[in-house]
Amino acid sequence: MSKKRKLSDIRKKIIKGTANVYTVQDLINRINNNEKIQFEDVDVVTTATKALMSGIAGIFSFRLSPPKTIRKFMDVSLNGISAFPGPCPNEFLGIVDLILYGTAQSNTIKNYSGGILFRDLVEGKEVDIIAKGEEGEIIEKKITLHDMQFARMMGTRQAIRNYFAMINPSSEKVNTIFSVLPLEGNYSQMSFSGCGAMNPFQNDPKADVFGVGTPILVNGCKGYIFGPGTRNDKLKPNMQTIADFKGMKPEYMGAFQTSYGLENICSIAIPIPILNEKIFQNIIKSDNDVPLVILNVIGRNKLGKITYGDVWDNNFLVKFNPKKCKDCDECPVEEKCPTKAFNMNTGIDRSRCFNCGTCFFLCPKNAFEADLKTVKFETKEIPIILRQSDRYGAIKLAEELKHMILKGEFPLKEPTGKLEFAEKVK
Ligand code: SF4
Ligand code: SF4
Repeated sequence: MSKKRKLSDIRKKIIKGTANVYTVQDLINRINNNEKIQFEDVDVVTTATKALMSGIAGIFSFRLSPPKTIRKFMDVSLNGISAFPGPCPNEFLGIVDLILYGTAQSNTIKNYSGGILFRDLVEGKEVDIIAKGEEGEIIEKKITLHDMQFARMMGTRQAIRNYFAMINPSSEKVNTIFSVLPLEGNYSQMSFSGCGAMNPFQNDPKADVFGVGTPILVNGCKGYIFGPGTRNDKLKPNMQTIADFKGMKPEYMGAFQTSYGLENICSIAIPIPILNEKIFQNIIKSDNDVPLVILNVIGRNKLGKITYGDVWDNNFLVKFNPKKCKDCDECPVEEKCPTKAFNMNTGIDRSRCFNCGTCFFLCPKNAFEADLKTVKFETKEIPIILRQSDRYGAIKLAEELKHMILKGEFPLKEPTGKLEFAEKVK
């Protein structure tokens, strides 16, 4: 008879302090140590991803003027980024509701996007608001997250079931969202995205255990899944999420400068209660079992396939060795680090570092340590020059979720509805 357990029994074990809760990485480490793991050994696993996710927006509501002074706000910008006022007009209330895209760019600050603004707000920084009323009135104000009555992050397409590796087969280098420096041609470099075996959908591909209404962590704050995301299909499922900005942690969010513009960083962690053997079989897979498809960066046609075991192998952290730093006149790492995490004098700011590996290639004095791997593809050996998912950060978030569950601070709940995915993107 196939083995099963009830969510209520897991909850009782958590209260008694006897539940077995692990991150996926804990299990991978044990499997790699040749430990045999049984259904009985695991009640819950925590999965996570920290990656570039363009589909995020902020929904805000705050007061800009006393009641009765302005009928309605028409144009509103935050640090020079245009937002969409509404949909509620808040007539004569002096309050504005608005939506601001994570991918929107500032008209006043160079290389500044919604993703950076969201992090600045969470860090408690003041932002400049310029708002125009219906009669042409101009309101200029500084505001913090604390001043906002409502501030939520909505994810329209998140935690997609892993992603792809990219190669440029052409003879010309190309600027792309899949590289920090232009991606060199002739199959000479590879970048990739995806947290491999840690990814939530990798561990529950059909969303049998989580779904609409499941509590999750978004950037370290408790939030919810509220449906399947845009451009979903059964092969690449993803989700829509909602969470309060108040309570998020800056280290899990922000923006990443690619050679074709800024992308948002976002982190999602999801608990998976092991309710039956089918779910158990999904979670005991290693990175070697998770395929990583290689695409042509121009046109995205498939070129080949490797596994996440070829790119992730306990090589998650990038380190800086100050003894090897020669204080160059101009430091290319300071200039090009995609998250502005590096300073010659203070080293790596770990709350900003994405462990992407760009510094490892940029520093001529080998002051950085990283094991980015080289991939065998046909007859070539192609070095990975960029990781666009931060597995180290994902593991950290999964650890946080694990400890919250064990301490009884995170509810395990049945979803209220199933996430239904399309057969194929139309
Ligand atoms: S390039 Fe390397 S050695 Fe030179 S200042 Fe930057 S980190 Fe130091
Ligand atoms: S790995 Fe290096 S380049 Fe990448 S974010 Fe960290 S410090 Fe910056």
